[in-house]
Amino acid sequence: MEKYIGKSVYKGTAIGPVNVLKKSEGLIKRVHVENVDEELRRLDKAKEKTLQQLARLYDKALKEVGKVNAEIFEVHQIMLEDEDYQDAIHNMICNENVNAEYAVSITGDNFADMFANMDDDYMRARSADVKDISNRLVSNLSGEEQPDWENTEPSIIVADDLTPSETVQMDKNKILAFVLVHGSANSHTAILARMMNIPALIGVPIELESLHNGVNAIVDGQDGIFYLNPDENQIAQAKEAQQKEQEQKKLLANYKGRESVTKSGRKINLYANIGNVSDVAYVLENDAEGIGLFRSEFLYLGRDELPDETEQFNAYRQVLQMMADKKVVIRTLDIGADKKADYLGLGKEDNPALGYRAIRICLEQPDIFKTQLRALLRAAKYGNLSIMYPMIISVEEVVSIKKIVAEVAEELENENIPYEIPEQGIMIETPAAVMLSEELAELVDFFSIGTNDLTQYTLAIDRQNNRLDRFYNPHHEAVLRMIEMTVQGAHKHGKWVGICGELGADTTLTERFIKMGIDELSVSPSMVLGVRSRICEME
Ligand code: PEP
Ligand code: MG
Repeated sequence: MEKYIGKSVYKGTAIGPVNVLKKSEGLIKRVHVENVDEELRRLDKAKEKTLQQLARLYDKALKEVGKVNAEIFEVHQIMLEDEDYQDAIHNMICNENVNAEYAVSITGDNFADMFANMDDDYMRARSADVKDISNRLVSNLSGEEQPDWENTEPSIIVADDLTPSETVQMDKNKILAFVLVHGSANSHTAILARMMNIPALIGVPIELESLHNGVNAIVDGQDGIFYLNPDENQIAQAKEAQQKEQEQKKLLANYKGRESVTKSGRKINLYANIGNVSDVAYVLENDAEGIGLFRSEFLYLGRDELPDETEQFNAYRQVLQMMADKKVVIRTLDIGADKKADYLGLGKEDNPALGYRAIRICLEQPDIFKTQLRALLRAAKYGNLSIMYPMIISVEEVVSIKKIVAEVAEELENENIPYEIPEQGIMIETPAAVMLSEELAELVDFFSIGTNDLTQYTLAIDRQNNRLDRFYNPHHEAVLRMIEMTVQGAHKHGKWVGICGELGADTTLTERFIKMGIDELSVSPSMVLGVRSRICEME
């Protein structure tokens, strides 16, 4: 038995085999090779294997998602065989006597940069494709298999770190727990784990190289401990903990179907956060009264190109229909910082959290924004929709957004396409928005406070940096006063105000929030019943 101590970012106990995701990206070493012919043979073999994988993926996609969507795998095959790309790799191996992995990786980066700097949108989007095929080729060279979710047993995913785009591509039914060597408690991967109701540990000091798939393990999400090869006694204890968790779940189930109202009769709208259409199942299962934050950017991640209007319209309509007439707040694209989509060619930034992200991208690239707004305005006919704009810092931004929404409505009108302009609100997640909350409240229908970013920007602490986790304190008096100020700003103009950041689920603060006058709390689906029980117990 081996025991490793990390930090829990979502509680719960898991028992099962480990599935190690070893990523070659970032770990590729430059190695001097004498026998370049042997290196070229390895490259050829890996290329053949990659072509076969892409052909299989094409066939699978053709059956599942149709020809148009499958074509990307055909494009990847063509790019892989591209003469310039192959010549560049060969030249590097032969002229510099380097290993194939290194030559592929550097060539991939060079080509990706070249595409990213092109003027043409289509060519810019190919940057992600070159990276993708280069990563696949490197994986095959190093004998590393791509995770095959279809044939994977439910297991404990162990990885160095995971990006949100990697996490969204996983089959949630096959994940018993996440164990990360790095990772931060406030990252979107941690948020996704909470959303999926999956125990998760970060900062677990384990050597991935020496860990093999299939080894039995336990994740103790209560105390943040990871056991490898546990003995019978530990397995029995973990089973007992799982049973207790089930009992606790049963107790909370008594709160299903009840209103979220304090003993003195104060009603709070208790909603849930989602990232994908399939998450609606968790919302319904946990009896949330609506969706207070649909992070629409997850529709844009883990893929090679922007989702078009039809795809988005279908997703939004489906969520609205599944929620019947309950409130659904969809946040417009909040991409950037840790949520990266290579095809957007946003480039590297020194301070991505303070960078080109969210509404800044939408206002600078109105084509992307308008496509999403068209899909949203059309979907509004199918339920109780509200649109919410992220990362607002000024009145001018809201004025510009409203102008674009009016243009989109006019376009739909002229095209005779049914639409509706729904309720519109903004996220309050910057100190600037808090300070301007009174002025902003005049322009919008509601506020939703994003405490994850509000804490980051108020305390000047990068939420992605796990070294700062112990300084990242959303209970900081400055953050709590910002929340209070926002509530006052909203109520002065008769607008409702909620919290959709992770702090909304902190039951040690529920009473304080309600006393401040918060009207709505939107939390991970798995937290809904716990928060409701707290509200119902309050005087
Ligand atoms: C927040 O910042 O609190 C928020 C809800 O948005 P996200 O976590 O997606 O940045
Ligand atoms: Mg945010």
